[in-house]
Amino acid sequence: MAGNWKMYKTPQETAIFFERFNSLADGWEKSDIVLFPPAIDIPAAVAAVNGTNIGIGGQNIYWSKEGAFTGEISADMFLAAGASWVLIGHSERRHVVTSETDADVLKKTQAALGAGLRPIICVGERLEEHKAGKTNEVLIKQFAAGVAGLTEEQFAQVVIAYEPVWAIGTGQTATPEIAAAAHRLIRQEADRRFGGEAAEQLRILYGGSVKPDNIVGLMKEDQLDGTLVGGASLDPDSFFKIVKAA
Ligand code: PEP
Repeated sequence: MAGNWKMYKTPQETAIFFERFNSLADGWEKSDIVLFPPAIDIPAAVAAVNGTNIGIGGQNIYWSKEGAFTGEISADMFLAAGASWVLIGHSERRHVVTSETDADVLKKTQAALGAGLRPIICVGERLEEHKAGKTNEVLIKQFAAGVAGLTEEQFAQVVIAYEPVWAIGTGQTATPEIAAAAHRLIRQEADRRFGGEAAEQLRILYGGSVKPDNIVGLMKEDQLDGTLVGGASLDPDSFFKIVKAA
C-alpha cells in the first residue's frame, strides 16, 4: 500500500502526518506500507518512521550517481537519506512536469536497482489512448521498455503500478474489471519475459483516484496486490482507512 504525496507537505507537516499515522498503523503487519513524500521531506519522514515497518521512498531519481545535473537527485543520495523505494515513470513525470520517455524510465530503473532502491514502475494509458482502444498496446510497450534487460533477480525487486492517466486526480476510478484486465495483461507479459513464478510473485498496484469508499471493490479483484494512492494519502486517517480496508 503506497502513498504518493506529489508536491504537498513541508517537513513540519510531514512530522505532523506521521504523529497521527504511526498511532493508527502501530503494529500493522497485514501489508507493506510505503510513503513517497517530496525529496525535501525525506529526512523528516525517515526519522518519523524509525522503529516502525513503514517504508519511505523518493518520487523520482536521476540515473547518474553524481555530476553537473542541477536540480536532480541520485538513487545513492536517496538511499543515504534513508529511503528504500522510488517511484519511476509516474505519469506526471511522463506527461506533465517533464516528458520522461520509456528509455529514461529504463535508465532510472537500472540506477535504482544498482543502488539498492526498490522501484515502483508506473505504467498507464492516456484518455485518448483509452478511448481509441490502445490500452493494451501502451501497457505492453511501457512495461517492456521499463524492465528490458533486467535479470530475473533484478525483476524480483520491481513492483509495477498500473495507473490509467485518465483516472489520476480526476475522481474517475477505473472499474475493478478494467483494472483487473490491465493487471492480467501485465502479468502475462511478465510471464512471457521472466517466467511463471516471477509473474505470480510480481506485485501490481492499481492507482487512480483510490479513496476509502472505492478500495474494497477494487481489492476484491485477485489481480490487484495493492494500490498507489495520491490525494487520499495526504490525510493520515483517510490513508489508513484505505490500508485497513484493502
Ligand atoms: C498518483 O499520484 O499516483 C495517484 C494515483 O493520484 P490520485 O490517487 O490522486 O488519483
